[in-house]
Amino acid sequence: MMNYYSTNGKAPLASLEKAVVKGLAEDRGLYMPERIKTLSQEFFDHIEQLSFQEIACHVADAFFGEDVPADMLKQIVCDTLSFDVPVVPVKENIYSLELFHGPTLAFKDVGARFMARLLHYFNGGETVNVLVATSGDTGSAVANGFLGVEGIHVYVLYPKGKVSPIQEYQFTTLGQNITALEVDGVFDDCQTLVKNAFMDEELNQHMKLTSANSINVARFLPQSFYYFYAYSQMKQRGLADNLVVCVPSGNFGNICSALIGKRMGLPIKRFIAANNANDVFYKYLQTGKYEPKASIQTIANAMDVGAPSNFARILDLYKGSHEAICKDISGAAYTDGQITETIRECLSDTGYQLDPHGACGYRALQEGLKPDETGVFLETAHPAKFKETVEQITGKPVEIPAKLAAFMKGTKQSVSISNDFTDFKLYLLN
Ligand SMILES: *Cc1c(COP(=O)(O)O)cnc(C)c1O
Repeated sequence: MMNYYSTNGKAPLASLEKAVVKGLAEDRGLYMPERIKTLSQEFFDHIEQLSFQEIACHVADAFFGEDVPADMLKQIVCDTLSFDVPVVPVKENIYSLELFHGPTLAFKDVGARFMARLLHYFNGGETVNVLVATSGDTGSAVANGFLGVEGIHVYVLYPKGKVSPIQEYQFTTLGQNITALEVDGVFDDCQTLVKNAFMDEELNQHMKLTSANSINVARFLPQSFYYFYAYSQMKQRGLADNLVVCVPSGNFGNICSALIGKRMGLPIKRFIAANNANDVFYKYLQTGKYEPKASIQTIANAMDVGAPSNFARILDLYKGSHEAICKDISGAAYTDGQITETIRECLSDTGYQLDPHGACGYRALQEGLKPDETGVFLETAHPAKFKETVEQITGKPVEIPAKLAAFMKGTKQSVSISNDFTDFKLYLLN
């Protein structure tokens, strides 16, 4: 079996089941797998002949194969990946990994769908309450990933007035086992409420709580699947040498799963973490000092994170070495003005419609690629999720995919709460 240790080093080792059900370790650290297995050279030699699901099953086996029966794991992987994740050319040397073809049109569908299925597998009939803080897209991905799953109730905490109408509809209109809590505060308040709930003894005696934020290993590890698949698609194109992958980052869960992939042998030369004006990580790369701050609201709102949780995992992975981190990852940070300019220019130069998050990734490649490198940026959400913003920038209509239009027909149902933990606790206890 594979054990999971806490990045704070003061909690006992946990089984996969415990890590998935608890989410956060007792010492508030994040769980990390005890061993990261290197995949065989043979796998990489033939990866371009495998389907997305085959690649993902192979990677999943390295993570979870010691703890979940092979048939079950295969079924979870195949159910999760019910949609494609294509790499498409945007301009010379720059490719987009489109992660928005899932049910809620953002990359978080992959991790959320996987986690819902794994939690269901581990959940022995008892009701589990999933608490999830969202700055926009996590809430919809988790709510939709868990919708109708028996024995699970999901509470989505989101900052009032700080998510787009389309995002809000995607988790407030579902009903059934999904409750939306509208918090009078910012994303970091939502995240603090969730973290405090896990630490509260009384609450934990009354109800089984778990998290579905990117801190959960069942969300974070499966995200590495699509980095392997992106590599295989670039290899098919004969462009797998000197690959640079650029990840629009907020809480840093996505890029962290890429770094795990690299540790498993995935031949990606280096990574770029692209930020919006929330540039705590970018500053860390430059100065070696990590100074979390309050988040700033931007037009790439799913990256409005001032204290990225998964920074702890990156530090852990590189044993705290700033030098080692800088070797594998460089950074970039863009203002709303620069994001706007990039969306407009990319559309007129190439015809490709970026969303505000992907725009940070595209721009970082445009500015940072060396002549012998090929870049892939992650298009983390469909531009229609940010329709008002994008249309205002380009002056051209953004078509709403049918999947998204269906959400807009529902009725918003949410419960308003303050950012005070006592209120939140009382609400849950009642
Ligand atoms: C969540 C999200 C991000 C940031 O991902 P992290 O794993 O938190 O770094 C970027 N873009 C979009 C569209 C997102 O929803």
